[in-house]
Amino acid sequence: MLERLAVQVRQRALGTVLDVQTVTPHMRRITLGGAEVAAFVQGEGVDAPGAWVKLFVPSGEGRAYTLRTVDRAAGTVRIDLVLHGESGDGPASMWAAQARVGDQVSIAGPRNGGFAPPADTRWLLLGGDATALPAIQSIAAALDAAMPVEAYVEVDGAAEQQPISTAADWRTTWLRADPGEPGRSLCQQLLHHPLPPGPGYIWLAGEASAVRELKLYFQEHGIERHRLSAKGYWRTGNADHRD
Ligand SMILES: Cc1cc2nc3c(=O)[nH]c(=O)nc-3n(C[C@H](O)[C@H](O)[C@H](O)COP(=O)(O)OP(=O)(O)OC[C@H]3O[C@@H](n4cnc5c(N)ncnc54)[C@H](O)[C@@H]3O)c2cc1C
Repeated sequence: MLERLAVQVRQRALGTVLDVQTVTPHMRRITLGGAEVAAFVQGEGVDAPGAWVKLFVPSGEGRAYTLRTVDRAAGTVRIDLVLHGESGDGPASMWAAQARVGDQVSIAGPRNGGFAPPADTRWLLLGGDATALPAIQSIAAALDAAMPVEAYVEVDGAAEQQPISTAADWRTTWLRADPGEPGRSLCQQLLHHPLPPGPGYIWLAGEASAVRELKLYFQEHGIERHRLSAKGYWRTGNADHRD
């Protein structure tokens, strides 16, 4: 019980931007460090696959971001932020586009990313968009060789594809996003998608309407509640969407 309580403890840490990298044209990687972040990364749950934090940018507004990687020895975290300015900007995306070494931001968390395959899971199906890619990469890094995984990732084009490092028996299918209808390519691919035999686990994240459509589809097709995690990470036209 105490262990479970420890996992739920959330901290807020002030961090300094130590590095800013352009991963792809629409993805910026920020490394945060400093004394409070170094203490934060020693806590429980920070390196759980898909763990996330609320990132408070210098304007004071907070948005949810996955801990892409956590380096306990260095006392740093990396966060990958989608630059979605072309389809409507928000404070986090705007900050990421201009972030500089030395900027001060805060993180609060960690919170669980919902990735909890039951022990008897024999296959994984992962689906998401660019905002889900950091979580998919963190899930990939945590899996062992025995697990067959199919991952479907909707991005803006070939330039947005990224390497996915994993020991698992992994296959990525990159889907091209329709700019007018985010999540449509993912839905087209996964609705009626044949599932492997035996007990499996499905993890979905991305534009909320698309994720909801897929969640309902899989529920109606007999996927049990504990074998499905589906979370809207953002919603078209909504600032600071909460699922
Ligand atoms: C658990 C969780 C983990 C997440 N992890 C990540 C992550 O690692 N990396 C990441 O980039 N995002 C991640 N997200 C999504 C991120 O929180 C949202 O995209 C957030 O809305 C961005 O904040 P903003 O200030 O840029 O835009 P907001 O102020 O929230 O929104 C402003 C406008 O931009 C639109 N918008 C928001 N996001 C997008 C988008 N991706 N594409 C197109 N239009 C958009 C909104 O519809 C709105 O019209 C995660 C979300 C959750 C819930």
